[in-house]
Amino acid sequence: MHTDLVAALDIGGTKIAGALVDGHGHIQARAQRATPAREDGDTVMAAVEAVLAELSASPLWGRATAVGIGSAGPVDASAGTVSPVNVPGWRDYPLVRRVRDAVGGLPVELIGDGVAITAAEHWQGAARGHDNALCMVVSTGVGGGLVLGGRLHPGPTGNAGHIGHISVDLDGDPCPCGARGCVERIASGPNIARRALDAGWRPGADGDTSAAAVAAAARLGHPVAVASFERAAQALAAGIAATATLVEIDIAVVGGGVGKAGEVLFAPLRKALTDYATLSFVQRLVVVPAQMGTDAGLVGAAAAALSRTTAATAAHV
Ligand SMILES: [Zn+2]
Repeated sequence: MHTDLVAALDIGGTKIAGALVDGHGHIQARAQRATPAREDGDTVMAAVEAVLAELSASPLWGRATAVGIGSAGPVDASAGTVSPVNVPGWRDYPLVRRVRDAVGGLPVELIGDGVAITAAEHWQGAARGHDNALCMVVSTGVGGGLVLGGRLHPGPTGNAGHIGHISVDLDGDPCPCGARGCVERIASGPNIARRALDAGWRPGADGDTSAAAVAAAARLGHPVAVASFERAAQALAAGIAATATLVEIDIAVVGGGVGKAGEVLFAPLRKALTDYATLSFVQRLVVVPAQMGTDAGLVGAAAAALSRTTAATAAHV
């Protein structure tokens, strides 16, 4: 009899995804609701409960031994609470207790969404087989997580590896987090687009001013678009190099919408890494695109739950 099945929740500002995931990381059942992000906290929780209710109708539900949650942050795993920036109804919201109540007392494991994606990449994606890795999501924001010594390193509150808010420009632009010159303030999709627009890049007839449109222009050689991606790559490289120097990672995995820009990002990123990752023990560091798709958050949340169950000692997380 299999007991290595867990429920997983991936909670973001636009959708709440749920799944039953087996010990091989295969999704066996799914449920999803839109996040009522502008509503009060209990309304958001009702959407989570609806996802769990749909999953619990599956004949496989009885095999679930735990629930893993990857949530938009900040999260506080030590307190079991979440305060997602883009879900204002949840501030220090007791998500772990509420989910545990909804699932009849099963153990609940909470991690930040960047840590969840890291768990997924380490289990099944680009960081598989690497004992020391940094995984990053570069999109509207910049998040991340760490694998150290072969194990996921969520940190006491579940936020470790949040590379988007380390400063790489001491006197740089103020960041919404309160600091200055953060990686996210330079390398996120909206900041890549803003910098290109400020320097004179203009969108095509479709009016698309996203980072993806800037990437398309960069591929065609538009110098302002190229320069905006080079600046983003420089910020990412400085953050990756600092991380590698601190904790000796040997691979950095970059995903998210901006990570999909391809060589427009990765070519200047590899070049900038040679400028910043200079000491002998970080020179073998490689940077690669993420491999996990849209289910990364669910698979990673499942990995975190499996790692806390006896059945999961083989889960490699
Ligand atoms: Zn910041």
